[in-house]
Amino acid sequence: RSFKDFSVSEEIRKALKGLEYEEATEVQERVIPLALEKKDLFVKARTGSGKTAAYAVPICELIEWLENKPQALILTPTRELSVQVKEDFTNIGRFKRLKAVAIYGGHSFTMEKTELKQKAHVVTGTPGRVMDHIERGTLSLDKIQYLVLDEADRMLDMGFAEQVEGILKELPRDRVTMMFSATMPEGIKSISSNYMKDTMYIDV
Ligand code: AMP
Repeated sequence: RSFKDFSVSEEIRKALKGLEYEEATEVQERVIPLALEKKDLFVKARTGSGKTAAYAVPICELIEWLENKPQALILTPTRELSVQVKEDFTNIGRFKRLKAVAIYGGHSFTMEKTELKQKAHVVTGTPGRVMDHIERGTLSLDKIQYLVLDEADRMLDMGFAEQVEGILKELPRDRVTMMFSATMPEGIKSISSNYMKDTMYIDV
């Protein structure tokens, strides 16, 4: 299916064309329409399936440019993935002039703090560093409407369960949650039953 078939704006279409994304991958085809309708989703998908754009396209579409505080938070297990996801948002949101910021351990806290103070529509980060910013009051959560847990099983395997749960507790309840995971262990099921609502399951 072509991206032309999704109800996304010209700005997003133009960016996808620039990236030479013509046909949607299977995960994108299944996730984008439901995410645009703001459904909570659990998606069983691997790296390489095009899962990043599956959530980045609808989130970029739904972001309100005029709001300065972060509207989307993407949690990832590693710094590399945080940076990659930030770049994907920047590329897909290019013609909307969307601003994405990555925050992660080993990176300058002061620099991140400055970036977060300016306009930041989307924040990507590792759970420990995200929690640090929350505790020090440098990451505002009150406008977060979209939460993505990317590679959720790996996040739990790496010992981030407590931080992830701590972050979930701080977020506004009225939000959309999308969880991407290659497997579905107990810890994942418990997050989904405690922190998500009317979750739809997608297995590609
Ligand atoms: P991901 O699974 O999100 O890590 O994406 C895997 C790779 O596929 C990345 O290099 C993306 O840039 C690329 N990609 C994602 N969606 C598409 C698409 N619809 N058409 C072509 N390439 C894509």
